[in-house]
Amino acid sequence: MTGAGGTFYRVRVAVLLVILAGVILYAARDVQSRRARKTWDHTLSVALVLLRDPAQGPLAPDALPALHARLPALDARLTEELHRYRPGAPHPFSFRLFGPVDVAAPPPSAEGTGFVDLARHTYDLWRYVRPVDEAAGLTASDFDSRLYVVVRPPVRRDRTMVEGESEQDGRVGTVSVELDASMADFTLFVATHELFHTLGASDKYDASGRSLVPDGLAEPTLVPLYPQRFAEVMARNRPLSPSEEVVPASLDDLAVGPATAAEIGWAR
Ligand SMILES: [Zn+2]
Repeated sequence: MTGAGGTFYRVRVAVLLVILAGVILYAARDVQSRRARKTWDHTLSVALVLLRDPAQGPLAPDALPALHARLPALDARLTEELHRYRPGAPHPFSFRLFGPVDVAAPPPSAEGTGFVDLARHTYDLWRYVRPVDEAAGLTASDFDSRLYVVVRPPVRRDRTMVEGESEQDGRVGTVSVELDASMADFTLFVATHELFHTLGASDKYDASGRSLVPDGLAEPTLVPLYPQRFAEVMARNRPLSPSEEVVPASLDDLAVGPATAAEIGWAR
């Protein structure tokens, strides 16, 4: 059969092909631009967006200034670490703090690991952060990675590192922390962990939370091996012995071990 029906069919196929080509082009450009984040010949722009649920009570007045005041220390520590692998490279990250933005609910979390679950989660997250970005005055495309950090006043005295959720090799990470002035370094450590997930780094601790050996060690060739002098960013704690480890005391403890450095392209 030819005529109107055939023409309609051809037009429909042509339109679909154009859409498909557009999607492929967009995906290819996105993959390329995400890959360009791992060349380390330029400084990546990172947004730290603070979210606050007013229902959880007010933060201490000095909590956010303390966080702000420690950003240069984080920049310096990560630059030192990059220079162990690439002497003379530009600073790896430029951090900008946004917020706090008041939110009524925490960021959505992924329900499963299947393709449909992930697509659904990506969509939910996109819908969640869009008004947050607007309220914070943030243009998402200006940043290589964005970390959404839910801050709430501390309810416990002991520090525990809560795993956030970040798109592996993606652009968006979320994490929730208890924040007061004394927790500023810890909060930035946690945010850095999630940032590294967005750059393709994997967790380096086992089911009980212990650092993997050797990949979760900042200095796997240290002699003697223990105590480790640093907490590896993707392992989270500083091992004192094979059976004992402590949470990082400050950003001075943060290090990027060789396994993580290889994953994010620092090590060549
Ligand atoms: Zn993690």
